[in-house]
Order: sequence, then structure tokens, then C-alpha cells
Amino acid sequence: MNGRFGEYGGQFVAETLVGPLEELEAEYQKALVDPEFTAELDRLFRMFVGRPTPITELHRLGTTEHGVKLWLKREDLTHTGAHKINNSIGQALLAHRLGKKRIIAETGAGQHGVAVAAACAYLGLDATVYMGRVDAERQAPNLQRMKLLGARVELVDLGTATLKDAINAAIREWIAHPDTTHYLLGSVVGPHPFPTIVRGFQSVIGREARAQFLEENDRLPDAVVACVGGGSNAAGMFSAFLDDPVRLVGVQAAGEGRGGEGGHAAPLLYGDPGVLQGTRTYLLQDDDGQIQLTHSIAPGLDYAGVGPEHSHYKDTGKVEYISASDDEALDAFAALSSQEGIVPALESAHAVAGALKVAREYESGATILVNLSGRGDKDLTSAMAALQQREETTR
Ligand SMILES: *Cc1c(COP(=O)(O)O)cnc(C)c1O
Repeated sequence: MNGRFGEYGGQFVAETLVGPLEELEAEYQKALVDPEFTAELDRLFRMFVGRPTPITELHRLGTTEHGVKLWLKREDLTHTGAHKINNSIGQALLAHRLGKKRIIAETGAGQHGVAVAAACAYLGLDATVYMGRVDAERQAPNLQRMKLLGARVELVDLGTATLKDAINAAIREWIAHPDTTHYLLGSVVGPHPFPTIVRGFQSVIGREARAQFLEENDRLPDAVVACVGGGSNAAGMFSAFLDDPVRLVGVQAAGEGRGGEGGHAAPLLYGDPGVLQGTRTYLLQDDDGQIQLTHSIAPGLDYAGVGPEHSHYKDTGKVEYISASDDEALDAFAALSSQEGIVPALESAHAVAGALKVAREYESGATILVNLSGRGDKDLTSAMAALQQREETTR
């Protein structure tokens, strides 16, 4: 079946969405081979997003303890501060091609909503972002940013009033107006063709990073590491290395670190296959098929599902999936800031923490390329509070 990654993926949707999804897939395939589209996308990546982003060699983290050289791919330096803008600008351009002037999107922490709002403002599209009311209260600055960027924000009160409820609300709205509206999904999740399209727009990360790493080192890294929430920054990064003799490692959020229900957000470590939001993939669900509560200090990793491509890579062993806890991520957040002068997003701090674990397995002289998916300004308040609390409890 179309859009499968092994036994995962697919298109488990209402009848009314089959047509719009087919239209989207067809237009995406046409756009990929249309020189006008690819040139315009390249231009927007350069002019608006700030690509190519550099890679940065670290001098202390990893080197001091293990003699292993860490390199970062700097998606934190993109416009709006995270990799999500790559996909938002790409899909907004695709929607423009489809003649759809209205964009809807869902957001959890607000990062995807901000990227969508910025892309739509630049391209002159109308943006509506669905956000759970609980999330909106937790992420007030991003709510203000979206509004300032001209997006309409619809607060969702249903369910737990968080990300999965916002996704359901956005899907309902799309079912009602598929002819005029494009649903701009933010990660490699949901029904086919979204996992393929989002990976396609994020693959620029891996393409650039592989060429840059070769240019600087005359060889490929021993390992490539990225954090996995929905899995888009990792899918984009890994896509360039799938045929290389390079170890690929995805890092999921272990939260409190005990693996107990509700205490983490690591379906690839503790979940089982099931169907959620149009796709078959690993999920955190109870015996009745109810989606479990999740927890991570990183809002962008706090999700009960994961992209189907990663489920397939887990089963085949193409990618190794490990985890980093809230505490390990906080350590990496503080260390990267004070030792290397780079404040990472808490999501990206999971990738750095994972890379430091991987580094222990190598001899001196090995190299690890880490995708730094975003910058940490958005997390300052929560990270500083957590660090302070930790200091008080250990004193
Ligand atoms: C949203 C987000 C993530 C998680 O999303 P993926 O689809 O797994 O990439 C990771 N890092 C940052 C900075 C984010 O904003």
C-alpha cells in the first residue's frame, strides 16, 4: 500500500480526506521535479530561513571526557530558531501552488505555530493555528508571537486541551473545508503523504550537513545523532546518511527516567504499534487503546506517538533509539551553554545528552555529528526553574 514504511504508515482517514490527500501527494510529486518550484524553495531557504546553517566543532563537550569530537548542525540559527521553519515554508509554498490561500495548523508548545505564522505572513497566506488551552497558558510568549505574526489562534478546550486535541480539532476543520484549506502538519506524522512531504522539506538538513562535514573532515562522522519527538528533524538529518556506513541514533525523551506510565514520552522504547491520527506507528497506549499521558521537560518531545518511518527503522535496526531523561537533558543544556557558548532548545539538549552517551562507546578520535534542532531562548524560564529546583533538593 501507498505510503508504507514496512508495516507502518499508511492512510487511516475519513473518506472525505482521501481526495485532498491524493491531490496533495500528486502536487508534491510534480513540484519536486518542477525547476521553478525547487528554485523558489532554494531562494526562500536562503533569503528567509537563513540557509545554509553552519556546522560547529565543539572543543570541550565530548572531547574532554572521551576524546570524541562532537560537531553540531546549527538549526538553532534558522529564522524563528528551529528546524520547523524548513517544513513550514516548503508546505506553504506547496499550498500556494495548490491555490489554497488558507492554512490551518496545530501546535503544542507553539514552535510549529510560530513557524507557520511567519511563513504565511511572508507568503501572504491566511493562517489559523489550533492550540490546546492548557498549552496556550503554558506557552504565552509563543501565543503572542503567533498573533503578532498575523495568525488567528483557536484555543481548544476538548480532552486534555493539549497537542493531540489541537490535532483533532485541526483535522475536523480540514474535513469541513478541504477545497480551500491546506493542513500544514508539523512533523513526519499523520496519514500519507505527510510523513514523506515533511521529511522531504527537512532533508535539506542532512544534505547540507553531510557535505559540510565531508568538507571539514575529509570523511564521514562515525555516528549521527538527533532527538525524536514526531521525528522530523531526525528524519531530515538521517535521510542523507541512509546509504553510508554511519551509525544513526535517535534520542527519545525518558522524562523522569523510570519508564513508568505517564512519566516519559518514548513510544519507541516503551510503546506498542497501533493507529493514531491517520497512521500506524509505535504509540503509548493502555490495554484499552487509550492514549497514555506523557511527560518531558521538552515540550516539543512531549507526544505519545512518533513518525511511522522511525517505527520501521526501529524494527529493522537501521536506526538505534536510546533515551535521555529530563535530568540528563538539563545537564546537557547547562554544559553546552557554559562550555561552548550555545544555548540549545531543551529538545535539542536531549540529542546532545544522547551523543555524550554514545561518545563513551568510542575510542579517542571518533567523530559524532549532532543535529541541534533549535535554540533555547524559549526554554529559559522553565530550564532555569528546573535547574534551581534541582540545586535546592540536592543541597
Ligand atoms: C518541535 C521540536 C522538536 C521535535 O520535533 P521533531 O519532529 O521530532 O523534529 C525538536 N526540537 C525542536 C527545537 C522543536 O521545536
